[in-house]
Amino acid sequence: MSAYHMIPFISQLPEAEQTIWIAALNRALPDERVIHVSEVEQVEKKHCQLAIVANPKAELLAEFENLTWLHSIWAGVEKLMISLAESPIEVVRLIDPRLSSTMAEAALAWTLYLHRDMPRYAKQQQNKHWQQHPHILASERRIGILGLGELGQASAKQLRKNGFQVMGWSRTKKHIAKVVTYSDNDGLAEMLSKSDILLCLLPLTPATQGLVDKAILANLPQGSAIINFARGGLIDNDALICALNSKHISHAVLDVFDHEPLAPDSVFWQHPDITVLPHISAPTNQASACDIVAKNIMQYRQTGIIPVCVDKTIGY
Ligand code: NAP
Repeated sequence: MSAYHMIPFISQLPEAEQTIWIAALNRALPDERVIHVSEVEQVEKKHCQLAIVANPKAELLAEFENLTWLHSIWAGVEKLMISLAESPIEVVRLIDPRLSSTMAEAALAWTLYLHRDMPRYAKQQQNKHWQQHPHILASERRIGILGLGELGQASAKQLRKNGFQVMGWSRTKKHIAKVVTYSDNDGLAEMLSKSDILLCLLPLTPATQGLVDKAILANLPQGSAIINFARGGLIDNDALICALNSKHISHAVLDVFDHEPLAPDSVFWQHPDITVLPHISAPTNQASACDIVAKNIMQYRQTGIIPVCVDKTIGY
């Protein structure tokens, strides 16, 4: 096989995981040779046009002078977009319907957790306190979703199917059956004012960094709750803690953080009104991801056309 069909796998995953990924990718791409970046000979590096990546180190990418594009095995690529902002290398992120349905399942699971008052009943149990609270119908519960992309739309549809009132906000206006959609700042303010639960599914970009700040939290109804399944950097942590301590926000479910794993001394671990999850809402499914990456690469080999890339001007 020629060096032109050699694809380096560049990632910071643990070595054992990398080995499993490389084997699975080679099974999905029998006409290519996917190899660990450390095994690519110096003379072969200039022949590599593309690489398969998961949060690769910039200095390793720089060793491949003729890379034209990268296929990420992850859906979120914000770190890559920062490191490649000035580079001509294009980035293709993972778009996988299976990932979207996994996220939609998580959106439903943790919405139900908040909707059925599970954090409150868990606290009552700790105090041996027997008290029933009024039941609210799903049809009376309003869910606002920040971001109506692959994951936001799948989540919106799942929540609608389960009877919730669903709203969503995105940069460009969307039309989704039985979902009230908003765009622009006025639309955001209107949606926030009606959201009993706010679900964050925006990519982290210069425009969304710290977007959920004191003013946004203040705009939510008294006693509302937040779920962040996107990236930690979307939320101003100090503002969130203040809003929780003042009981303006009743609970936050956080799956993503500025620094992961979450540091042992983070206030989030012990906060009575925060549920900490270890970035588990929508893990990449290796089998479906390999099929999608393989299909995209085979199409590229046949046509020379790079699949739809992340738009560097907007960062997602
Ligand atoms: P996507 O398809 O690119 O959708 C992004 C959505 O956000 C779009 O609706 C977009 O609006 C909207 N948006 C972006 N910037 C905006 C802005 N400044 N103002 C308003 N709306 C804005 O992304 P996705 O596949 O749904 O993924 C979303 C994020 O989820 C990823 O970036 C990643 O960080 C995170 N994620 C988390 C996990 C996990 O396990 N926790 C797993 C996978 C992904 P338009 O529709 O108008 O473009």
